[in-house]
Amino acid sequence: MISGMVVGAAGSLLTILMAQAMNRSILNVLFKKFTVEAAGKPGAIVGEEKPAQASDAAIDMRYAKSVIIVPGYGLAVSQGQQKLYDFVKLLVAAGVSVKFAIHPVAGRMPGQMDVLLAEAGVPYDMIFQLADINDQFATTDVALVIGANDVVNPAARTDKSSPIYGMPILNADKAKKCYVVKRTAGGKGYSGVVNTLFYLPDTLMIYGDAAAVCGEMVEAVKSLGAAAA
Ligand code: NDP
Repeated sequence: MISGMVVGAAGSLLTILMAQAMNRSILNVLFKKFTVEAAGKPGAIVGEEKPAQASDAAIDMRYAKSVIIVPGYGLAVSQGQQKLYDFVKLLVAAGVSVKFAIHPVAGRMPGQMDVLLAEAGVPYDMIFQLADINDQFATTDVALVIGANDVVNPAARTDKSSPIYGMPILNADKAKKCYVVKRTAGGKGYSGVVNTLFYLPDTLMIYGDAAAVCGEMVEAVKSLGAAAA
């Protein structure tokens, strides 16, 4: 808990630096609802969302070499952090390298994700801030985006008309494959901007509450062990 709060304080500093990079005040970033409707309107989207089953995704990750997990606001809403860590422990026991990537404005409070993961008992050395991990997505087998949306939207890099243009994002789209956990198809994040990540060829969508999906993933990996016994 204490280490989570310390890291959370560091997250606050990063939030301030990021707000400066975006030419927005810290109050504007934290408390002002975005008012511009999406760049990346549905008409501008190429491709479609591709659904996947939680159990298939879990087994895919069980046989991957490396996984980076991006938690966001939806994980906090579902209170799925403990189940998520149960899943991670199974992956680690199977020899998978697992890291958590934290965006400075993920969630609804600075440092919220760090505190959430600390509550679940995730070791500090498994948790990385944006600047320290962003280069690693490109060499990672699977990015698991769980309840996060704006903080992984590639439109922030390229779409000058987007209200989130200029915000550094986590490079989940650069992983070899990306699974996104959220409850509904086509939903937008806090900014109201369509997320182009969801439509990329190597992105698969797992629809459901984050805690329930993590529960299914735990059972899927455990069932592999039971089948082998
Ligand atoms: P977002 O708010 O952008 O997206 C949340 C995602 O979680 C959505 O895709 C939503 O989709 C999904 N979700 C919601 N409930 C659940 C659930 N129970 N199970 C699974 N998924 C769920 O979150 P991010 O963390 O990516 O981004 C934070 C945003 O909040 C940024 O825009 C930031 O600027 C802003 N902000 C941050 C603050 C901070 O200090 N950290 C303060 C104020 C604002 P669906 O509804 O389909 O499930």
